[in-house]
Amino acid sequence: MFDNSVKAYAQAKEVIPGGVDSPVRAFKSVGGTPPFITKGKGAYLYDVDGNKYLDFVQSWGPLIFGHCDSDIEQAVLQTVKNGLSFGAPTELETQLASEIVDMYENIDKVRFVSSGTEATMSAIRLARGVTGRDNILKFEGCYHGHSDSLLVQAGSGLATFGTPSSPGVPADLTKHTIVCEYNNIKNLEKCFEQSDDIACIIIEPIAGNMGLVPATQEFLKACRKLCDKHGTLLIFDEVMSGFRASLTGASGLVDTKADMITFGKVIGGGMPVGAFAGSNEIMAHLSPDGPVYQAGTLSGNPVAMSAGLVGLRKLKANPAIYDDLNAKALRLMNGLKEVANSYNIPFQVNTRGSMFGYFFNEKSPLNIKDVATSDFDRFAKFHHEMLKRGYYFACSQYELGFISTVITNDDIDDCLKAASEVMKNL
Ligand SMILES: *Cc1c(COP(=O)(O)O)cnc(C)c1O
Repeated sequence: MFDNSVKAYAQAKEVIPGGVDSPVRAFKSVGGTPPFITKGKGAYLYDVDGNKYLDFVQSWGPLIFGHCDSDIEQAVLQTVKNGLSFGAPTELETQLASEIVDMYENIDKVRFVSSGTEATMSAIRLARGVTGRDNILKFEGCYHGHSDSLLVQAGSGLATFGTPSSPGVPADLTKHTIVCEYNNIKNLEKCFEQSDDIACIIIEPIAGNMGLVPATQEFLKACRKLCDKHGTLLIFDEVMSGFRASLTGASGLVDTKADMITFGKVIGGGMPVGAFAGSNEIMAHLSPDGPVYQAGTLSGNPVAMSAGLVGLRKLKANPAIYDDLNAKALRLMNGLKEVANSYNIPFQVNTRGSMFGYFFNEKSPLNIKDVATSDFDRFAKFHHEMLKRGYYFACSQYELGFISTVITNDDIDDCLKAASEVMKNL
């Protein structure tokens, strides 16, 4: 049933490293062949073998209204007719920035870029420029895109300066990145004892790149307190959680306020967009107003802006969407847990708005070390068997899943029936 994908994959490997343009797509952690997609429509994906899948990946987050949402499609088609890019300002940028600024009391200005990677990279440069400091602090298991200083592994002990996690990243660049354990206040305090010249903490307040592992309220409060004490800026990386966990992302679900927020994924409605945002005071350091340089030929691209704008306006007009999305996420997660438990399979679940995560684990992970104790063989089998039955889940236990507005309770109930068949033989 995957014959054409197997062929397409072999051909792709001839001309594209690993056959993919982003490594997670290669299904390495579950094995097998990734289906090659021909189209998406509503809640479903279709592949080159004619298989149809209920899509819980949503292009890894952006597609909160599913595929081919008619409002977004119309807006994009209309914008395209007026030209694809100008390299000059358009009112669409102001409109999308205004929508975002309106929703956050701690944000006055937004700068658009073309990816989440660019957003976090630029936010960090700005934090360094504002504070005049080089060191930054990130947490193990949080992903902030693939820029050099963020591709860092913890050293031998945590609360140490990181070592590059990829060849090609000079150790000289990561020596300014301190890596600390997520949800570990003691460890964080130790970092600040060792180094009082940290420009910023960057954190996924709801981690979505080690499975779904939310930071505790106490942990985020500790981050805020230490930042205030040491003149360090707090950056919430909401590239994934923004407009996903709630209308105002993770920021809307926790008491802690960040100094800067990075966005991506949903704000582009499926087009390539990222953004970073902060107060007037912070953003005034950014070029052309200030000395911190940052630029982009396609930044604020009109087609991407119009897609994002329609999406955000729809969400804003109907914030109850998030209750519905979360109810569905819970229906799926609680249902799966019930099924797993009925076969004595240890299983942990979590949801935040439209985000959901599950681990084949005895206990609920608080950090990436806990996640690593999960049963990866079981996950791979579960993933394959569900794929065969038409359910497209993220292909790694270090990723999570998304509910889109077009997924119905019936879809979820059918999925649970399939999961019951699969779990019986796990
Ligand atoms: C996806 C993601 C990024 C990187 O965004 P890209 O658009 O893939 O560059 C950064 N931070 C978080 C939290 C993400 O989930």
